[in-house]
Amino acid sequence: MERIYIGDLKDHIGETVTIKGWVSVRRDQGKMVFFDIRDMTGAVQGVVLPKSAAIELAKQTNRESSVAISGEVKQRPAKNAQEGKVNGDIELVIDGIEILGAAETLPFEIMDDTAGINEEVRLAHRYLDLRSERMQRNIRLRSELVRRCREFLFNEKFTEIETPLLTESTPEGSRDFVVPSRLHPGKFYALPQSPQQYKQLLMVGGFERYFQIARAIRDEDLRADRGFEHTQIDIEMSFVEQGDVMSTVEKMITGAVEAMGYTIKEKPFPRFTYAEVMEKFGADKFDLRTPEEKEKNILAYAWVHKFPFFEKTPEGGWTFTHNPFSMPVPEHVDQLLQKKNVGEILTTQYDLVCNGYETGGGSIRAHKPGLLKAAYEIMGYTEDETQERIGHMLTAFGFGVPPHGGIALGVERLIMNLTGETHLREVQAFPMTRGGQTSVMKAPKSLTAKQLEELHLQVKPPKKHG
Ligand code: ASP
Repeated sequence: MERIYIGDLKDHIGETVTIKGWVSVRRDQGKMVFFDIRDMTGAVQGVVLPKSAAIELAKQTNRESSVAISGEVKQRPAKNAQEGKVNGDIELVIDGIEILGAAETLPFEIMDDTAGINEEVRLAHRYLDLRSERMQRNIRLRSELVRRCREFLFNEKFTEIETPLLTESTPEGSRDFVVPSRLHPGKFYALPQSPQQYKQLLMVGGFERYFQIARAIRDEDLRADRGFEHTQIDIEMSFVEQGDVMSTVEKMITGAVEAMGYTIKEKPFPRFTYAEVMEKFGADKFDLRTPEEKEKNILAYAWVHKFPFFEKTPEGGWTFTHNPFSMPVPEHVDQLLQKKNVGEILTTQYDLVCNGYETGGGSIRAHKPGLLKAAYEIMGYTEDETQERIGHMLTAFGFGVPPHGGIALGVERLIMNLTGETHLREVQAFPMTRGGQTSVMKAPKSLTAKQLEELHLQVKPPKKHG
């Protein structure tokens, strides 16, 4: 029989139908067995009456088994109807059960909210955790937000383009994850900390408006709101200035989140300079909401700009604060070229902040080779070292590079803002544990002797601690 989605059952009152889904609840009352069954569209109660052909099987059907269930859709008597519950006024009188996938005893209760369950256990059985109402809601919300942003960008003439994962290191201020090369003994690829250089090269390549739902992979210390992998809505635009990128992003976010029913505290998003926020909040991430607005989950977006370009390294040299490829603010271009008053040079970097989190950041890029070279010189690179690092960019910029700029928005942070979640694992389908172990599967793992041999690698025994 054709499958009917549970969400559509009300259109089939009086008919015998087949639904497919999972058993959320089984209440065996001896003579009768009650079930709550759910699929991706909703839930419904079913009853197996004593004389039903399905009564024996009903008693053997464990919770969370996947099942095909057939029966008649009945209006429930008004006195039994569960008010306010979707499908609370109908039930299925079950005459057939097929267990499609039997469920063993569950390692934990799949409740509405599994946040309190031990992390290792949750992530070892993440596929079960994903069945919980909270995870279903968060992951679907994520999909919806990304879809809406994608649609907006397509409407604004952006082209979605993928960039390589096996690549050369791009500095984003983190450690790289590296991949050994089998073909080139002793050489390594780096997984991208961001598509920064490729997206800029796409601007040289004439695409003008690029976006990608891109994975950024960074070997940094794990925190509640930071993992090894995160997803960015990565954008780059040609022939634009700072305000163009900011207003495009503002339009995209406003359109998406308002369509999803959220309220934004202030539009256009307020803009603060770095100096202002440091004085006002003592940090470049801040929460503009009143306690009342926090209760209501209002979204308080704001921009921070005019960041210092460089900061001192512990060794007394200079390094970039955000992005070495950025353009300084127009009034500091000469200062950068002359490498004067380095600590005072401001960058065109703009960060998007929301409800206490940094949600995105970008800049207008230094598209003149001289500016990029000067930035690297300030950071202590010799000419040869600069060539080795970014010679390909300098060469590319010699062939009619358009002025360009862009931004990357963190998808997880955006969703944390929407949901009020404070931990990355609540908004990623398969996050890592705090200790950097993958969910369900067991990476990182040792390689076999054969793999090591092929990769020309030798592993030193780990240093003993303590
Ligand atoms: N690549 C930067 C980042 O990942 C964003 C950008 O400047 O576009 O933070």
